[in-house]
This record gives sequence, C-alpha cells and structure tokens, in this order.
Amino acid sequence: MTGKRSGGDGSTTDRREPTHVRDAAGVEDRLEYETATSTDLEYETVRTPVLVIGAGAAGARVAIELAESGVESLVIGKRDHGDAHTTWAAGGVNAALGSLDEEDDWTIHAADTLDEGHQLNDPEAVELTTREMPARIRELADWGMPLDRTEDGTINQRYFGAQSYRRTCFVGDRTGEAMLETLIERARDLEVPYRENVMITRLLSDGTRVVGAVGFDMETGQGLLFRSNHVVLAAGGFSALYDRHSSRDDENNGDAQALALEAGARLLDLEFVQFHPTGMVGERYGEEWDGRLVTEAVRGEGGRLYNTEGERFMERYSPNQMELDARDVVARAIGRELEEGRGTENGGVYLDISHRDDDYVRERLPTMVERFESLGVDITEKPMEVAPTAHYTMGGVDIDFRTGETGVGGLYAVGEAVAGVHGANRLGGNSLAETVAIGKLVGEHVATVIGEADTDPDVTASQRTLAEREFRALEALADADGDVAPQTLLDDLGELLWNHAGILRDEAGLRAGLEELEALRARTADLDVDGGLTSKSFEYAVDLSASLTVAEAMLRTALERTESRGAHYRTDYPETDGEWRVNLLVSVEDGELSIRRRGVGDPSPPVQEALEEGYELDYHHLE
Ligand SMILES: Cc1cc2nc3c(=O)[nH]c(=O)nc-3n(C[C@H](O)[C@H](O)[C@H](O)COP(=O)(O)OP(=O)(O)OC[C@H]3O[C@@H](n4cnc5c(N)ncnc54)[C@H](O)[C@@H]3O)c2cc1C
Repeated sequence: MTGKRSGGDGSTTDRREPTHVRDAAGVEDRLEYETATSTDLEYETVRTPVLVIGAGAAGARVAIELAESGVESLVIGKRDHGDAHTTWAAGGVNAALGSLDEEDDWTIHAADTLDEGHQLNDPEAVELTTREMPARIRELADWGMPLDRTEDGTINQRYFGAQSYRRTCFVGDRTGEAMLETLIERARDLEVPYRENVMITRLLSDGTRVVGAVGFDMETGQGLLFRSNHVVLAAGGFSALYDRHSSRDDENNGDAQALALEAGARLLDLEFVQFHPTGMVGERYGEEWDGRLVTEAVRGEGGRLYNTEGERFMERYSPNQMELDARDVVARAIGRELEEGRGTENGGVYLDISHRDDDYVRERLPTMVERFESLGVDITEKPMEVAPTAHYTMGGVDIDFRTGETGVGGLYAVGEAVAGVHGANRLGGNSLAETVAIGKLVGEHVATVIGEADTDPDVTASQRTLAEREFRALEALADADGDVAPQTLLDDLGELLWNHAGILRDEAGLRAGLEELEALRARTADLDVDGGLTSKSFEYAVDLSASLTVAEAMLRTALERTESRGAHYRTDYPETDGEWRVNLLVSVEDGELSIRRRGVGDPSPPVQEALEEGYELDYHHLE
C-alpha cells in the first residue's frame, strides 16, 4: 500500500520504506532488522499505549478517562474529527436526577430499563449505568454541555417512551451533537490525540490476545499498522445493515462486531434489533429521507399518532401509555394499522404535534421544525407522515461491564458496539447514557492495568507478517474488476434483512433469508471496485465482508430464539417463553458460527423492589 506520510498526532509513528526506517521512539535498530526481511509493501506503523477505535461518545469518554489518569491513547475514526454517528442522537440522555419528579431515583431507572429489556439485560450493566448517570450528566454540564434548564436553573428533563418519570435530559433535539462537542472539547483540553479518516479492517490477534490493528488511511490509501497492547473497540452498532434505517448509510455497518468476532471474542443477543416507530416516509419526503428518524421527543412533548380514519389508534393498543409506550409496542401497532389498510397511500401514519403552542414546538424541537420546513411542511400546523425504521442494535460484543474486557486479552469494547444494558429492547435515552457511564469505567480499568512495557510496544516480525497479509488482501480487493458493485450487494443485503429479519419474523422467512444470504455471498467473488483504495466503492467493499458476517449471525440467532420478546417478534411463536430468559452467544468455532445459551443474572434487592413496585407512566396526566 502506498501514500504520503501522515500522522504527527503525538503517538510514535514510523513508516516502512524499502531503503530506511524512521522511528521516533529510538528503536531504529530493531526496525532496521525487520526491514531486512521487508517486502515491497509500504505502510506506516503507529505505536500507542492504548488504541481507541471509534470517535463517538463512547470512544471519546474512554480517552478522556485515560488522559485524566495520565495514560496516553490514540483515538481513531472513519470520518473527520467530531463527525461520528453520535451527532445524530436527538431527543436526550437519561439520568435519574429527579429535577421535575422528585420520586425518581436510579433504582426506578434500572427497573424501567429491565422492564423495557424484558428481563434479558445484564442487571449489573444496567445498575452500573443508571447509578453512574446522575454524576455523568452533572460532569457534562460542568464541562460546558448546554443542557436545557428549568426557570430556576436546574437541569430540565422530558418524558420519553416507557419511562415512569421525566428523566431525559436534553439540548433541544440535538442532544448527541451537543454531547459529542462537549466531550471533544474536553479531550482537546487534555490533549488527547485523534486521527481522522482511518478505517480498521482487522485486529491483530492470535485468538487469545490482541496486540493492535490494521487498516488504511481513507484519504491517501496508506496502509496503517497500529501496535498497541490495549485496544478499545468503540465502533458502533449495525442498524444500517437494514434497507430502511435511521442511521447514516456508511456508519453502523457491523465493523465492531465483525472485528471482535474474528479476533476471538463473543457476540451476544444479535437477534434484537430495535425498530423505531417513527421514521420519515420516503414516498412522501424523498428517498434520501426514507427511514430518517423523527425523534421520540416529538411524542415525549405530546405528539399524537393518527391513522387515515382520524383515529388515535394507540387507544386500541395501549390505552394507558398511548404513544409513549415502548418502541416495539408502538412500532408493531403502526405495522398493524398499515397492514389493515388504515395507512396513507405513501405507507405511513400521521404524527401530529400541532395542538401544542407554536413557540413551544419551535423551542423544544428546532431540528424537526427546520428539517420539515425545508421539505415544505410546517409541523406546528400539519402532521408528519411516519413509519417504523431500523434504529438501534441491542446486540453486540459480549463484555464484562466493570472493565470492558471481552475475554480476549487486551481487547475491550464499549458503547453501541456492545450488548447487555438494553436486553430485548432499549429504553430511549439510555444509549447515550451507556456511552458515558460505561466509557468512564472502561477508561478507569484500562488505566489500572497498563504497564511500562505498554508505553512503547515492540513490533515483532510475526506481527508484521500478519499485517502485511492484510495489506495484500486489501490491495487485491481494491483491484477487483468483476461485474457487481459493492453498493448493489449492500442494498440487496438491506432488502433481505428487512424482508426476512424485520419487525415480524418466522421460521420459513428466516431460513429463506439464510439461503439468500449464501447466494449473495457467492456474488462477492465477482466484485467490481471502482476507484481504488480511496474510493467509496472500496470502503463499501470492505464494509460488505463485516456486514455479511453480522447478518448471518443475526439471522441464525433469530431462527434459534423460538419465542417473542421485546423487539424480536416471531409470528410462529408469538408468546414470551420463560424458558427463553437466556442470552444467545455467538462465537467462531472451527471457522463456523456457533451459538450457545447463557443464563441471565438477577437484579440487586433495591432494583428488585422497584420492579415489584410496578412503576409506570400514566400518559393521561400529560394531556
Ligand atoms: C437518528 C438517531 C437518533 C438517536 N437519538 C438518540 C437519543 O436521543 N438518545 C440516545 O440515548 N440515543 C440515541 N441514538 C443512539 C445513539 O446515537 C448511539 O447509540 C450512540 O451515539 C452510539 O455511540 P458510540 O460512541 O457507541 O458509537 P458511534 O457514535 O456510532 O461512533 C462509532 C465510531 O466508530 C468509528 N468506526 C466505525 N467503524 C470503524 C472502523 N472500521 N475503523 C475505524 N473507525 C470506525 C466511526 O467512524 C465513529 O467514530 C440515536 C441514534 C440515531 C441513529
């Protein structure tokens, strides 16, 4: 792989060239020796005590904690600095502050999370998150996050679906962007190095220990070997695998899960994909908007759902919690309305907030107002057309939440990349919460295990061999000149998942999905990559391999789970089955995906008490 030298971000770097080696850390002799066994490949080597793959809220929070403990890390992401999927998070972040509802506390937050997760969550992960959050929100406020305030200056909180009290803190409807800006500012103050536009394609692993990662600079095509004894995967989820989704097309395509699996880690609960009830309808607003999120904050601020007969149909499905019932309940209700012919000709239902005062809507939902205005719709006057969209993946890498450890030495994971906090369905506002609550704990842990040898780790000949094998594979992929564009296969995969592993699933559909997946995989032999290493076509070709692995694991686990629970609804097994209160773990055994079951732990006594109390929002007192 070739390209000009970049880097210069504070970590030690060298670039292998056929004639000499540059090495800022003074290990020239060793590297010169390695150069003697060199090949015609040219790539850059970067050595760092901790490599954080992912620059969203989770990765940023880990790096801040490390820096505060005096440990240097390097944060990398696929896009420009500050441009991560987190910026799309809109409605808010949960913390039981009790600003408006004094009765609220972390145990009730935990109980709501477990209820929404249908008791499949890791209770310890839930408790760590909900306990941590009040301190994490106050800390973000101290770091300058412009959280909405009540008239007396306390942090304001809004309703969100399936929460017993107002506990969602917010910055209008651009909470994720404001949170990431705050974290990045904090990281800058602490001089955390960041490297933009880097795509990791493989972790350097012998199956038991990870010692770095390999990838390329997406702007120059330069091959990159990151040598680090501690690698934190914070590379997001996989909802963008679906045809209709609320994420950016080139984010959230399963990189984290595929990288971890290949390195020897386990994945958990992949069958649980959250379909958000209110995505924009492409037929109405244009294809580029299809599936884009209409934030839950619209319903949190009183938005009502109507069918074409003018019925507020949630009265039929959830008379107590109405539009603010759990996402899976509202999404299935909309699905039923559409199926029974009470949807719009564009395939949606109406979401209306026009009964609220215009100024209030403008103040609380500025992004929504602006976006729809640009499409010719004034939402203070008229309803929006919405339908369910793939939004969040509860499944992910299996970790120990106290440490972030994956079971593979030196490899940690955090954020949407992992599974455990949300169980079978995620409570809105809990994802941003998890990124900072667990991000801090993971950073703390890595700082305690780091040793002197980790500061400037050696690069051995065998590590170079592994990396060079990957560089050659990438070069071969970039040269592929068959007949099928990678984007076509990704689109076909999206349709396959929407049709066979969507809101409603059954055995026949899932089996058909697996067969189609095999046929799709066979077509990758005929890829046509247009434009080489720095092209979008190449990026999609790399995505494809991760996406196919994760899609197969999703289809297989969805087939395995013969019950309905939370976001996983099997029409052939419509009931929840107590025997199935187990997590499904996926690993690679002898080159094949293997699935096994693991029991779920029990909540601590105070959370159990809150569960038994049966707290629940009574929607009608909002009206
Ligand atoms: C439209 C929308 C609205 C949302 N609203 C809310 C909300 O109101 N409240 C809430 O709690 N949650 C919300 N969520 C969910 C929330 O935004 C995410 O779960 C959360 O931001 C994930 O953060 P993260 O740091 O784990 O990952 P991300 O923000 O996804 O960051 C992943 C990082 O990994 C990098 N990366 C990925 N692959 C690679 C690779 N191969 N090599 C190198 N780098 C890589 C990416 O470039 C990026 O920097 C929303 C999601 C969407 C889509």
